[in-house]
Amino acid sequence: MIIAIDGPAASGKGTLGKRVAAHYGFRHLDTGLIYRAVAKAMLDAGHPLTDEARAHAAAEALDPGAFGDPALKSQRVGEAASVVSVHPAVRAALLTFQRSFAHEPPGAVLDGRDIGTVVCPDAEVKIFVVARPEERARRRALELAGRGETVDEAAVLADILRRDERDRGRAAAPLKSAPDAHLLDTSDLDIEGAVQAAIAIVEAVRAGRKRG
Ligand code: C5P
Repeated sequence: MIIAIDGPAASGKGTLGKRVAAHYGFRHLDTGLIYRAVAKAMLDAGHPLTDEARAHAAAEALDPGAFGDPALKSQRVGEAASVVSVHPAVRAALLTFQRSFAHEPPGAVLDGRDIGTVVCPDAEVKIFVVARPEERARRRALELAGRGETVDEAAVLADILRRDERDRGRAAAPLKSAPDAHLLDTSDLDIEGAVQAAIAIVEAVRAGRKRG
């Protein structure tokens, strides 16, 4: 079974993806990390993020072993990721890796922006996670502060809104809900509540009770 979880920046889909995967004994891929790794490679090499050919080469040379690098989680790298992810050549280079991950047994949960629409349009369960921007900014600021980054919540909110706009407005695989996705608003839920709501959606689909 493939579970696709999409949603805007800091909507909580990464945490949800990890927890739902653990619940079912599935593998989990946070696809944002892939785009962040491409962005970090470009920043480290001093290449302009707008250079599609170089970004494509960085995507082709990607080492999945480096996805655990904590530096990928910084705000700077997240912002840069939304710039390199606009390039169609970068997205195309990363498709095979994501699809093979999704199709390996026993099952997988992938979270990102285009999992239900482009990467795995045939996923059995699709969840589109949303939360109010102010709540997302609050959570992201807490997370960044926990990692030792100095953060200003207003700046985090501005960053989130800018990224949402770029992710929604791009021509290649824009952020949007698949027509058969189930909407999950986590604004007023804590992590446990959101996990239980996501599992309830999966169970309802499995039982054949819920159609998108
Ligand atoms: O989810 P996260 O904030 O880590 O993603 C970083 C950036 O990577 C996003 O803002 C988006 O531009 C890009 N991304 C994407 N497609 C995905 C996952 C992430 O374009 N499937």
